[in-house]
Amino acid sequence: MKNNKVVIITGAGRGIGAATAKLFAEKGYAVCINYKSQAAPAQKLAKEISALGVKCITVQADVSDEQDIIRLFSMVDKELGTVSVLINNAGILKQQSRLIDMSAARINEILINNVTSYFLCSREAIKRMSTAHGGDGGVIVNVSSGAAKSGSPNEYIDYAASKGAIDTLTKGLSLEVAKEGIRVNCVRPGLIYTDMHADGGEPDRIKRLEGIIPLGRGGQAEEVAEAIYWLASEKSSFSTGNFLDLAGGL
Ligand code: NAP
Repeated sequence: MKNNKVVIITGAGRGIGAATAKLFAEKGYAVCINYKSQAAPAQKLAKEISALGVKCITVQADVSDEQDIIRLFSMVDKELGTVSVLINNAGILKQQSRLIDMSAARINEILINNVTSYFLCSREAIKRMSTAHGGDGGVIVNVSSGAAKSGSPNEYIDYAASKGAIDTLTKGLSLEVAKEGIRVNCVRPGLIYTDMHADGGEPDRIKRLEGIIPLGRGGQAEEVAEAIYWLASEKSSFSTGNFLDLAGGL
């Protein structure tokens, strides 16, 4: 991989994505902050990152929409140069619910946002990174979840299953592109303090569950960002198709 340092982080306006954007900027990367609808936190973050002296753009794009993804990657080509690292991070969950109460619309919304988006963003990245297509190589890091292993019964099996699909995507894609200069790795966070738990209807969910976490506390977005950065960096140059769990021992 050549030393072009351009990172696209999906869903980077808030939470784990925002912490990751900051860390990559500190390491000298030009950063694309993608977000879906909340422009204010994305723009505030971009200001902070630009103050570090690196290039930074914000791109509103709904990664559940194929045309938006194509536009996102074209904007990065134009404004920052060829992407060298893709962090598939944007994800959603819905109100806690048992399967018996889930509609097809809800399940499909989870899958298109959490699974199809990772496939299509990876496709656009590979077109640019693959040495088989004239690229210089690159790295993809997928943000899965500890839910892929726990299954999240009584809360959101649909979300958990979408993350199981990301684990399988990571494994298969890592083997598919291993000889094309691209590494594909994955982090599986669990119980991280972000806004996401409010979307499930329980903002204080981590406080409720702290007792079952072996380390006795929830995690911070910055702790996940460090693992993402390591998996994207040359320090992990012999690692592909691998998973790093960040769930306090769960
Ligand atoms: P968050 O705080 O809710 O932030 C989600 C970000 O994703 C926001 O910036 C949001 O954009 C963006 N987003 C959502 N849907 C999008 C779409 N269709 N297109 C573009 N952007 C979209 O979430 P988080 O907790 O940081 O989660 C980040 C990732 O970590 C997710 O994949 C999640 O499943 C995973 N994860 C989180 C935890 C946890 O405990 N927090 C645990 C395991 C895994 P707007 O700001 O515009 O709304």
